[in-house]
Amino acid sequence: MMQEKPEGETFRILRQSVREFVRKEVLPLAVKIDQDDYFPVDVFRKMGAMGYLGVTIPPEYGGSGLGYLAQAIVEEELGYASASLALSYGAHSNLCLDNLFRNGSEKMRKEFVPRLCSGEWIGSLCLTEPGSGSDALAMKTTATRNGGGFVISGSKTLITNAPYADLLLVYAKTDAGFTPFVLLGTDKGVTRGKKFDKMGMRGSPTGELFFDAVSVGQDRIVGSYAEGRDVILSGLNSERVILSFIFIGLARRAMELAIRYSTERKQSGKEISEFQLIQEKLAYMYTRYETSRLLAYEALEAMERDRMDVIHSAAAILHAAESAEYVAREAIQIMGGIGYIKDSEVERLLRDAILGQIGAGTTEIRKRLIAKELVKLYRKDNNFLGEDEMR
Ligand SMILES: Cc1cc2nc3c(=O)[nH]c(=O)nc-3n(C[C@H](O)[C@H](O)[C@H](O)COP(=O)(O)OP(=O)(O)OC[C@H]3O[C@@H](n4cnc5c(N)ncnc54)[C@H](O)[C@@H]3O)c2cc1C
Repeated sequence: MMQEKPEGETFRILRQSVREFVRKEVLPLAVKIDQDDYFPVDVFRKMGAMGYLGVTIPPEYGGSGLGYLAQAIVEEELGYASASLALSYGAHSNLCLDNLFRNGSEKMRKEFVPRLCSGEWIGSLCLTEPGSGSDALAMKTTATRNGGGFVISGSKTLITNAPYADLLLVYAKTDAGFTPFVLLGTDKGVTRGKKFDKMGMRGSPTGELFFDAVSVGQDRIVGSYAEGRDVILSGLNSERVILSFIFIGLARRAMELAIRYSTERKQSGKEISEFQLIQEKLAYMYTRYETSRLLAYEALEAMERDRMDVIHSAAAILHAAESAEYVAREAIQIMGGIGYIKDSEVERLLRDAILGQIGAGTTEIRKRLIAKELVKLYRKDNNFLGEDEMR
């Protein structure tokens, strides 16, 4: 078995509890989720009752107050069983709920947060638009002052949970730059477009949203009116770190299936695990899996020290996503023809893994962020790598 990173008793118990939950509630549904593009709302609500949805939120607001390490553990264990449920969880609990709690007013915390913690409400974070993906700040959705409030117009696309979401954390352009707003699915002028039919991450509903002159009061602004850019950027850092764990869980599942098969399948009178070319695959798969796990935990610590830390978060998800795709692809190769068959499970893992290089900013953007940060750090101190300054 792979080594557990020491996490303290609370986190060991949490991991055990999530594993048990996943074994009972998620694994039996994983094929249906994928085949039928089925979003298990009832399981999502049970995750609320278990305290997983509001794991970073203090108990007085309906959460379990365990912090980001706990959120990472939930992501990793869900990612092992169903990366798509893990994606919906991440969008709800980290991108929307945690972001809203950190930046929102006391009134918002009291009014909205407990409903998102329990799963009564489902949340989305809405940044991407038809004309602005990687270049997110080129968004066209606007919020214009109108009396004491704002009128929001525009659209968002490729939004996780949008087809079900009750609460939308929407970024809009304002005269001060960018501002996050809370919109509700029931607000007049909010409509949902199509739900996308995807190659992977099936079951995690992805859709479009349209805002046709939606009127909201000042009290729907999340944080300070003029500081939305920082909310976006710090939110993206947190998102990159937490979503890395989906792909670490997925890679663990692919490794387990591949190792098991390599000990069961015999060719030329030998277990295929005895062939050196298969051994090389297993060795590289494990090394990539384990390094992505170590890097993601390191990034988690860096994010807790400094929310604006870009380099660790971008490196963590770059490596976790590339590694998961590599590990899933090699698992298929180890399983030969059977690996290519839908029943093999590894086929789904590869389709799901590919999203890792696209969602939460693409691989190309992550590389760009890392390189720009390296040059910036070097200009400040040309010995920065030796000086431990990134920590
Ligand atoms: C399943 C799924 C769920 C998602 N969930 C959400 C969500 O909940 N909320 C949300 O807001 N968004 C969500 N997204 C959107 C996602 O964040 C974007 O798809 C992603 O940021 C890339 O944007 P894009 O698709 O517009 O691609 P583009 O930005 O159009 O990029 C196209 C290609 O060009 C490359 N490229 C772009 N700019 C550069 C550059 N400067 N240098 C080098 N290469 C570049 C990209 O890397 C990519 O290869 C989701 C997407 C998917 C598929």
